[in-house]
Amino acid sequence: MVREQIHALSLKGLHDLSDLRFLLSLEDPDEIRYLAELASNVKNEHLSNKVHLRGLIEFSNLCSKDCLYCGIRKSNKKPLRFQLRQQEIIDAATFAFNNRYGSIVLQSGERSDREFTGFVCDVVRNIKSVTDGKLGITLSCGEQTRETYRNFFKAGAHRYLLRIETSDRELYSKLHPNNAHHSFETRLRCLEWLKETGYQVGTGVMVGLPFQTIDHLAADLLFIKSLDADMVGLGPYIEHSQTPLFKQREFLWPEQFRLSMTLKMIAILRIMMKDINIASATALQAIDGFGREKALKFGANIIMPSLTPKEHRKEYLLYEDKPCLDEDREECRACLEMRVKMVGDEIEYNSWGDSPHYTYRNL
Ligand code: SAH
Repeated sequence: MVREQIHALSLKGLHDLSDLRFLLSLEDPDEIRYLAELASNVKNEHLSNKVHLRGLIEFSNLCSKDCLYCGIRKSNKKPLRFQLRQQEIIDAATFAFNNRYGSIVLQSGERSDREFTGFVCDVVRNIKSVTDGKLGITLSCGEQTRETYRNFFKAGAHRYLLRIETSDRELYSKLHPNNAHHSFETRLRCLEWLKETGYQVGTGVMVGLPFQTIDHLAADLLFIKSLDADMVGLGPYIEHSQTPLFKQREFLWPEQFRLSMTLKMIAILRIMMKDINIASATALQAIDGFGREKALKFGANIIMPSLTPKEHRKEYLLYEDKPCLDEDREECRACLEMRVKMVGDEIEYNSWGDSPHYTYRNL
């Protein structure tokens, strides 16, 4: 009976809050498995069983922001602050290129000073040049001016990730300091600028935040749809003891519940937005050793193996219990290949793995 209802909703298209609320509230394992099956079918039909890799280079934890949930927030004095040297980043990118990853993500804390934005442009240009323009580059460096986004684009970046974190203004204000440097409006404007610049734009949310409800998450799905995002990265919120939000931990959903809610979000999104790229977030693996593989089963098609030099990984803890801190690049590559095969998917090497959604949107 419920299965039929799930099936009917998936055919009807998911535009109503009440339908999304219903799907997010599923708790029976068989029903959740059925939702995953439908999402998997959509993925296979629109994207085949191909998984794309994005080598993740976390190149700096220097940050001017004080987001209340994040382990590398400015006021946290514990992490040793670092910025990789140009050559270290190029070496990591070259590893990705030589191992046929197809593309990389350059991620960092947020800075908007000229020294930083100029550095990012140089790095992007140099990576493009040493890889003959063949390595795809996604940036994830937070809020910037319209001009900076254009400069990054001109330098050769073609995708940008900026999670909205939550689409609810009020909840957003509970997760960030209330000042002009942490404004919901600015974040929205940045997403618009990214689109108009010509990037493939990615956004997403954290799932299981303090004060967050199923209604918030249902609204998040509609937000992502209305933004017409090309890529989505969403993952469970994981509390970090050196952040102010840690105080709210007793109000959190249990980790397994956050995990299963994240998986349901991914499956529903895949049914709603059939040809976008959906990342299987590393944070999933912090909760469950097979969290990322489960996300593939629920419709995700992107995995981001870490290429951050080992000695810096432990200083880039957005959340605690981050997995694979002491695995080197080579081990990580072999391990992933096996894991992806295990769920019946296949890594597509040497390809940018652009979101077909972006391609169609621009025809
Ligand atoms: N500074 C950049 C990118 C680094 S943060 C930016 O703000 O976009 C990348 C993502 O990590 C954030 O968007 C957030 O969704 C996620 N993140 C931060 N703290 C987290 C936590 N405690 N648990 C789970 N995800 C977290």
